[in-house]
Amino acid sequence: MATKQHDLIIIGAGPGGYVAAIRAAQLGMNVACIEREPALGGTCLRVGCIPSKALLESSHHFHAAEADMKRHGVKIGKLNLDLPTMLKHKDSTVSALTKGVAGLFKKNNITRYEGSASFTGKGKLKVEGKDNVELSAEHIIIATGSKVASLKGIEFDGDLIGDSTTALSYPEVPKHLVVIGAGVIGLELGSVWLRLGAKVTVLEYLDHILPGLDEEISKDALKIFKKQGFEFRLNTKVTGAAIKKKKVVVSADGMDDLECDRLLVAVGRWANTDGLGLDAIGLETNKRGQIEVNENFETSVKGVYAIGDVIPGLMLAHKAEDEGMACVEHIATGVGHVNYDAIPGIVYTHPEIAGVGRTEQELKAAGVEYNVGKFNFMANGRARAMGDTAGWVKILADKKTDRVLGAHIIGPRAGELIAEIAVAIEFKASAEDIARSCHAHPTLAECVKEAAMGVAGRTIHM
Ligand code: NAD
Repeated sequence: MATKQHDLIIIGAGPGGYVAAIRAAQLGMNVACIEREPALGGTCLRVGCIPSKALLESSHHFHAAEADMKRHGVKIGKLNLDLPTMLKHKDSTVSALTKGVAGLFKKNNITRYEGSASFTGKGKLKVEGKDNVELSAEHIIIATGSKVASLKGIEFDGDLIGDSTTALSYPEVPKHLVVIGAGVIGLELGSVWLRLGAKVTVLEYLDHILPGLDEEISKDALKIFKKQGFEFRLNTKVTGAAIKKKKVVVSADGMDDLECDRLLVAVGRWANTDGLGLDAIGLETNKRGQIEVNENFETSVKGVYAIGDVIPGLMLAHKAEDEGMACVEHIATGVGHVNYDAIPGIVYTHPEIAGVGRTEQELKAAGVEYNVGKFNFMANGRARAMGDTAGWVKILADKKTDRVLGAHIIGPRAGELIAEIAVAIEFKASAEDIARSCHAHPTLAECVKEAAMGVAGRTIHM
């Protein structure tokens, strides 16, 4: 079999891999991307960020029609849920976007191989699947993402006991859904089914929800989600689950067995390095199964790079995208950089939750002195008009220099509002820079300005 040669080969067509491929093509490289799934876009587009956001949007409309419209003077008669149409909207959103990536590959002359890739030697790969081919390249990027973490004592049956992918396509609203893990996935997908009428119980090992987030957000979010109807059992370590008479029985330390209709296991994700043949090039993974890289995303093997969920750090699509671009820019030009202090993280619940930069606990642990500015959505005209007033914006700035070090938002459109602060951090702005920038009235963004003014103790409307 003749070996096909490329300048750069990328394994995996998720947000990290496909964005790296496009950027490399723009920079003049002959690029190939290997993906085993027929659809491009990876977990994010196929079974992650995009389908979950489609369901979150749809279920929010359903819930708002039932619960929020009255106050706006909109009376709706008997409300009906058309779940098949809701699921179809989700599927067509995914299909349009994955086809869009295929179109971008064509436009940028990126060669796509469909199959599983494994290393056969330095700079050499074989592809097995729909395409069966041997490839070589000077540069190879591993962008194989992550897979769902399993839990000892629990076997997925892909129906009643399942992961986030299963929870995107339940054929009916479960009467009682139990979610293991109060992380991002558990709360986003739990929100979808709660809004559609399920009783949702979340079992969480820790004494708080949303680990890693600003502690104040975690506390306030818990109160808000409880009010919405979520049932939480914290400090609860799940030890097993079994199907009995078409019901799922969940067991946990210190808790009576809990019976439910469906179980969603959302206890994290693991780097995906299975079957890559890393031994063939002498590349080892760390204790967590991740691939370690230097600041240019190069592994211990020259010419082999890794980006996204497969390397240590946050598992976020936009982080993977930025790493992909920086990695190929460095290969092509010798310069490429990701500013990890300015990567926002968002939880798409309602209210949304967003953060960027340092949390208060991180600043305290590092001994950094800081000032806090905070502003409540309750005191914002636009939020009042929307009838969506829960939450606040908090900005943390260095005590001496006033430089913005972090921001944390819980409230309406938090995910959009955080972008301004990510840019501010990237530009090394001070809180005063944000405070003196004119923000249109009446907008939710005024809460960001007010919080920035709050850093100097001069909020106007609170
Ligand atoms: P997570 O790590 O965010 O949360 C998992 C939770 O499960 C933790 O709180 C953990 O304490 C708990 N847990 C673990 N074992 C348990 C046990 N035996 N019993 C009870 N609780 C247990 O993981 P996730 O929510 O599955 O998300 C996986 C990854 O995907 C994360 O890195 C996340 O950032 C990413 N993701 C991001 C988004 C987003 O950006 N909006 C959306 C989905 C997923």
